[in-house]
This record gives sequence, C-alpha cells and structure tokens, in this order.
Amino acid sequence: MSKNLTEYFLELVKIDSESRNERAIADKIKSDLTLMGFQVSEDESNINTGGNAGNIYAYLPGKTNNEPILFCAHIDTVRPGNGIRPVKDNVKITSDGKTILGADDKSGVAQIMCGIENLIESGFSYPPIEILFTICEEIGLLGARFFDKSKLKAKIGYAFDSEEICEFMIGAPSQNTIMIKVFGKEAHAGVEPEKGINAIRVASEAIASIPIGRIDFETTANIGVISGGMATNIVPNLVEIKGEARSHNLDKLAQVTNDIISTFEKVAAKHKLDKAEAKVEIQVHNEYKAFFMDESHPVVKIAEKASTRIGLTPTFVKGGGGSDANIINAEGIAMIIVGTGMHGYHTVDEYIAINDLDKGAELVSELIKVYTEGNNEV
Ligand SMILES: [Zn+2]
Repeated sequence: MSKNLTEYFLELVKIDSESRNERAIADKIKSDLTLMGFQVSEDESNINTGGNAGNIYAYLPGKTNNEPILFCAHIDTVRPGNGIRPVKDNVKITSDGKTILGADDKSGVAQIMCGIENLIESGFSYPPIEILFTICEEIGLLGARFFDKSKLKAKIGYAFDSEEICEFMIGAPSQNTIMIKVFGKEAHAGVEPEKGINAIRVASEAIASIPIGRIDFETTANIGVISGGMATNIVPNLVEIKGEARSHNLDKLAQVTNDIISTFEKVAAKHKLDKAEAKVEIQVHNEYKAFFMDESHPVVKIAEKASTRIGLTPTFVKGGGGSDANIINAEGIAMIIVGTGMHGYHTVDEYIAINDLDKGAELVSELIKVYTEGNNEV
C-alpha cells in the first residue's frame, strides 16, 4: 500500500489540531482523499464554530450498485494537543508525556484512510463510500451539529471513535444539561441576617435531596458546577448551578430531570419571609438524542461478521457518552461506534498499540467487504 499506517498515524498526530484549529489537518486530509479518488468538499461550519476549518465530506463513486457506506471520525483533539511528539517502541505509540497523543481520534482517521486505500489497491469492487470527518467534536459535537446531514446518502455507518478494538457501541444515552439559578435575599450577615434568605443554604438543601450519581443501569445524574456568594458578611442572594442527566431511556431521562426541577422548586418554596421568598429559575437543554441498534440490525451483523473474519471476537456494549453518532443517528442513519485501540484518551498517558492500529484498518476494509457482499437491506 502507498501509505504505511503507522507512519501515516505519526504524521497526523504531529499536526496541531486542537478544536477550532483544524486548518492544517483538514488541508492534509483533503489532499490525501483527493489522491485516493474521492470527491472532496469542506463546509462552512466554522462560521458557526468560530474555528478555522469546516467539516470534510468525501464521496467515492463505487464499482457496485450498493448504496453508499459511511465512515466517520473527528479531526480535532482536546488539549494539551499542540506540539505532540509521538514516541514509538515495538509495541505501542505514546506521547512524550507533555501532551495528549491524539489517537482520539487520529487513529480513527488513519484507519479509515488506510483501510479504504488498501481495499482500493487490492482491486476489490467496492461500493460507493462516504466519509465525514468532523471538526469541534470535543467541544460539544459542534461540527456534526452544523453539518448539513441531507448530504449523506448512506443508511449504514461506522464512527471510529472509541477504545477497544472490535468493541462496538450499539447505543448511547440522551443528555439534558440543566442550568439552575437559585435566588435568595441579600442582607448583612452580622447585623440583620433574619432579613435575608441564604441562596447557598437553599441550593445545598436541594442538592442534598435530588437524585444524583448512578440512578440505574441506564440513567445517571450529576451536579458539576456551582458558584455563588460575595463575601462572608453577606447573606448570598444568588447561586448558579450546572448539572446534567443522561439516560438510554427517554422516559427515565424526563423523570430524573423533572425530579431535579421539582426538588429545587419545593425546597425554594419552604424558604420564605414576610415579603420575600426564595425562587429558582431552571433551564433544560437536550444536547443529543439516544440511539440503540439491536443485534438483528444489519449495521451490527456486518460488524460481527467483519470482526470474526479478521480473527477477533466482537463485543457489543452501550456507551455512556454522546458522540457524533448520536447526531447522525438522529437523522435516520444507523451508525454504531467502533473502537480504534486508543487508550487513556484525554490524558497525557494516552497510547495505542501498533497491532490495534493495524487491526482497525483491516476492520475498515472488512466492513466494506461484508457490506458489499451481504443482503443488507435496512
Ligand atoms: Zn473522540
């Protein structure tokens, strides 16, 4: 093959591409895709994200009459992601310890590029292939959100953006972000505290009473940020709280969200003076929808068969996080999330085993082969 996968991966991780600064990696990938025969375009999502590059969409006309198959990965990284100096031994690749490695998600990018290139060079009659490389995934799935999904023709897709090789995430939760303001009443804490309503006290009582942590096997809730108060001698009149709830089950998500809201309202109502009372103002924002593919779905069956053929045993799990796949699935495209072999992501201890990197590219080729052969009506 013309690209050596390990060399290509090393080349990609050395290109700075923290979220909103994907210009250089976008240019590199666009020119490589063009060389492979793809029709390549970049959108203008950066107008919305405030970054310097858009999402890359690429289409390779097929040699068969199948519908296209879609591959997805993101080209941005978290921080500290500038000046990455990868260190490679015989087994694995790490950073030098000062930065992340960027295997999240350049391992996915490299596996998709090399897996497809290998297949093209093998002479296989491949189907039409679509690729979506997104920007700003790490800062709220912004690229996928702003991408015009009506461009996508595929009904089946694979997002290479998870840990274990041949572990497939066939479901992910929906998430609500919950922003709460608790209003009390200001007073001098030493002179006339009885004229005040302590917003920190109200917030504390409410937080102590809400469902939090793991609610059940598919539902979680968290309070992650709290701020408020001015000085020790002032009864505080405002506390701001940010939290979230997630569930694979939308009814449970609504339930836990409502429990949090009603608890704050009830606790606030208990804190009254003659002419004043505590109040709460709550905003809920649904960040992304849940999805789930059962084992009979072609997207899962193809993954199972392809893994077995490359000598690996697939596992199917439900994830706890949101990713581009949540956004794509919401458009009616069945996309599951594929492990690339990345480990310790979002830390300076991030690494990937060279063998896993190779297996991921093999899996890309094999997924396309099984997809092409099969009767994969969806
Ligand atoms: Zn990622």
